[in-house]
Amino acid sequence: MQSQGGDTAKGLDRRTLVRAGTALGAVAIGARPAAAVASAAPRCADRYLGYRPADERQPYAKYMKDRVDPPQPQVPRALAAAALPSRQVPERQALSAELHDPGYAPVETGFGRTRSGEIWVACLTDMPRVAPAMWDWWFAWHSYDGARYKLWHPEAHAYAALRSDRRADPSLTDRQRYRGNTSYVDEYIGGRLDQLAISFQDPARYGIDERRFDGTVICGTVGTALLPVNVGLLVHQVRPTARGAEMRSRFYLNVPGLRGLDPAGISCAVRRGAVLPRSITFDLRFGAALLRHCGEEMNHLARFLPELHAEFGGSRS
Ligand SMILES: [Zn+2]
Repeated sequence: MQSQGGDTAKGLDRRTLVRAGTALGAVAIGARPAAAVASAAPRCADRYLGYRPADERQPYAKYMKDRVDPPQPQVPRALAAAALPSRQVPERQALSAELHDPGYAPVETGFGRTRSGEIWVACLTDMPRVAPAMWDWWFAWHSYDGARYKLWHPEAHAYAALRSDRRADPSLTDRQRYRGNTSYVDEYIGGRLDQLAISFQDPARYGIDERRFDGTVICGTVGTALLPVNVGLLVHQVRPTARGAEMRSRFYLNVPGLRGLDPAGISCAVRRGAVLPRSITFDLRFGAALLRHCGEEMNHLARFLPELHAEFGGSRS
């Protein structure tokens, strides 16, 4: 199953980018250092869009689709309204209070720039039939294989791997499997390929007290996979509703920080084709693209997450 369709120009751009990235990686590594890289990182999967025959033999293949579902209507509405004025954009320091509030923030879906220059994105997704615990399971399960990660956004997700394989310890809860772990993902956001390192953390680190609401919070830093540098923060709060759940997503970008050095992770990022970041600062255009991407992938997966979880939720692999 290949990811393709009407948007040929976009598809060509992506393929060109992937080829260019592969060539760049080959130049960067060279013949002799490649051997050293291979020993430092024995298992580095390929990056590609769509599914290969080996992927289609996976037991979850029936959930593979060619196209992502459109986002819910609040997302195109927010995009059409353009960026929120900075005076209405909540600062990052207000995030925990916003999530502790049992109601809703003045703007639950939108994007803008804070007065301090950070790019802010918020996205509300309604998820009928979904339970918050299904999202903890998803974050513990999906990063072990790029094909699983592609179930989430089949047109934009190209690669996933985890820094630490925790499947051997059956005593760990889903949260313990992904919190404190780093997920390396290559994905297209707004037509641009990014090689990201998402380090999931305990929400308490950001002042978020999970005892103050039902549900769960997935939160972590967003960084580049090529450097031990973080560039932002993501938070997905999942709360129960009368008919399922809802996700309140928040992103703050242009938040620099350091991440622990992982030479094997960086080696893999270079081997699969290093795509040097055009910049490690983000603008409003990227914020809009991220809002669309988040609205698409969260709505897309939520539609079959109950079935996927029922089928594979008991598996520790
Ligand atoms: Zn994505």
